[in-house]
Amino acid sequence: MTEVCPGCGQLDQVQHVPAVYHGGHSFYRGQGPVSAIPAGDSVGYARAQVSGVAVSAVARSLDPFPPPRRGGGLLAAVFALALVGGCFLALPLSAADDPPPGGGAAEALGIALFSLPSLCVFVAVGTLLWLYVRRVRAHRRQRRGVPAATQLWEQGWFCHRCGGVYFADVRSERLLTPAHFRQLVARAGGYER
Ligand SMILES: [Zn+2]
Repeated sequence: MTEVCPGCGQLDQVQHVPAVYHGGHSFYRGQGPVSAIPAGDSVGYARAQVSGVAVSAVARSLDPFPPPRRGGGLLAAVFALALVGGCFLALPLSAADDPPPGGGAAEALGIALFSLPSLCVFVAVGTLLWLYVRRVRAHRRQRRGVPAATQLWEQGWFCHRCGGVYFADVRSERLLTPAHFRQLVARAGGYER
């Protein structure tokens, strides 16, 4: 059993934080809107299946996990840029095939000039790759912090009457806002947001 809520001094609306969090997720499955499908001369009708998870605002405010890593947009940009850089690389090669008039110095200058765009692109590719590796590493570090964060999170109690969280030991005798509680949990996990 836990202590009474420091906000209202009562216990009847108090619930364990993990229970509030999991109770705030509901799974749904149902029929989507009707859509018309042309089938020969006639038109057929079909309903799409829809399913998903609905998360309550309270559950969202008590989420102990780090934000999910974003998709591979950065990696796609790296591939696209590398491709462009490869095309630019063809420029100095074609210039070498067809030397401009004016001797060796002019030829060297021409190759250097034509190489510049591909050099810029490859520097950009390197920077993006570095950013990507950094993001993946930061995400791994955050995942490693999850057990420590959830350990603190599991000690929290939520009062539905006051809308606040408290710890049932001497550490806190005041009510925390869900945002503040989440911040403490994130700090325990080393992934402050
Ligand atoms: Zn209360």
